[in-house]
Amino acid sequence: MNGRKPGESGDVASRRALLRWAMLGGGAAFAELWRGSCALGATTKKEQEAQAAVEQATRGMPAPRIQDVTVIEVGGGGVNDSTVVKVTTDQAGLYGYGCATHSFPGGRSRLVRAAVEDYLKPLVLGRTTERIEQIWQICYMSSYYKNDGVLNSAIGGLSDALWDIKGRQAGMPVYQLVGGKVREAAAIYLHVGMGRPDQDPGKQLVENSRKLVERGCRYLLVAMFVRDGAVSNLYGQPKFDDGSIPFDRDKETRKILAAFETFRQEMPPEIGLGVDVHSLLDPVRATQFSKDVEQFRLFYCEDLFSPEETGHYRIVRQQSSTPLAVGELWTNPQEWRPLVEERLIDYVRHHVSHVGGFTAARKIAAFAENYEVKFAWHGSPNSPVGHMANLTLDLTQNNFGIHEHFDYPPLVQDVFHGCAEIRDGYAWISEKPGWGIEIDEALAAKHPITDEHPNEMRTPDGSVIEGTG
Ligand code: MG
Repeated sequence: MNGRKPGESGDVASRRALLRWAMLGGGAAFAELWRGSCALGATTKKEQEAQAAVEQATRGMPAPRIQDVTVIEVGGGGVNDSTVVKVTTDQAGLYGYGCATHSFPGGRSRLVRAAVEDYLKPLVLGRTTERIEQIWQICYMSSYYKNDGVLNSAIGGLSDALWDIKGRQAGMPVYQLVGGKVREAAAIYLHVGMGRPDQDPGKQLVENSRKLVERGCRYLLVAMFVRDGAVSNLYGQPKFDDGSIPFDRDKETRKILAAFETFRQEMPPEIGLGVDVHSLLDPVRATQFSKDVEQFRLFYCEDLFSPEETGHYRIVRQQSSTPLAVGELWTNPQEWRPLVEERLIDYVRHHVSHVGGFTAARKIAAFAENYEVKFAWHGSPNSPVGHMANLTLDLTQNNFGIHEHFDYPPLVQDVFHGCAEIRDGYAWISEKPGWGIEIDEALAAKHPITDEHPNEMRTPDGSVIEGTG
């Protein structure tokens, strides 16, 4: 014997000896067993230190409670508009920001503001900020009519502000709160143009691409926009009387295919090329297009069809090996879940605020991972806070595909301090607590969103069509 009673050393063999001793020794021995078991809970110095750390982290401060919820806007000319929700707590200096941007064209920032201030704020005032998932569910279930872009954006902004608060409390970036990085940085793609209508599209595409490649970018995407493919209407006018723009789908398709041919002849083969169709083509044209671009080995072809026509992906999948990315228009799981389950697409690319923010997007990414479908979140318009939420998902979920990036104009960089760093073709995350972003709210107040406009486009004969400007 070493002079101690059986069990006092805390190891398994000693505990067994104590149990044997107790069984032989009756009630007094059981009393000793009870005392010894309690002591085993926190006897060692290491255990006591660990317990103290947990106490400090979880009980050192009273749980913060939501004291105010406000909306911050930054008008950035449409493509750089930002809507951010600020949650202020009852603890001095503890607040958080979350992105609630409702994208242009056809953005609904005034409705998002009303959803936050008039509907969600009364629901959450006084609640503890600790329960992010529960607050998300309370907000989500607050309307029987769920999954519209406005309510989802409001919920995304509010709940992402709670993630920011939790990170600031912990003194950690949000990526640490959800398990840490699975990669160092996120490979980005940049948008590249084909020049003015009077210029050679292929030549301009190559020239513009070389400039971006010199900056370190290895992936480039051409967007099919109505503003690029605008033509005269049947009266020979550039616009209809109501201001909508005529667009020639076949002309634009021919232009892109010719420009891609030049790109592949002139540019190094390792430079990735993608295209965003913006749902501008009808199903037959889109199916043919997916076959025509197969030869250019795209990293993906985006939004071939609108959400109302997703059944056509089943047909395209049987005819083309072009990788397919879809999702910036999705707000409802019924729109995307069947496409993932049937492996009809390769990338989901929701706009994170439109689906309910970081909390919701994590679940979408995890679902897609089961089917080896990757994600490439929609990147613009997006506040730098939303951009950081995208990047946090990129670095913490295994099935990341690629990161859409737009350079922010000076106004946005002046308002938002701590934007993600873009270097050598990668986006690098902030190492500061929360999302790592502070907002110059006084400057933001001078630049509200003022230029939202309807999404209007036509074929030359005046028919209204899907797409974006
Ligand atoms: Mg797109």
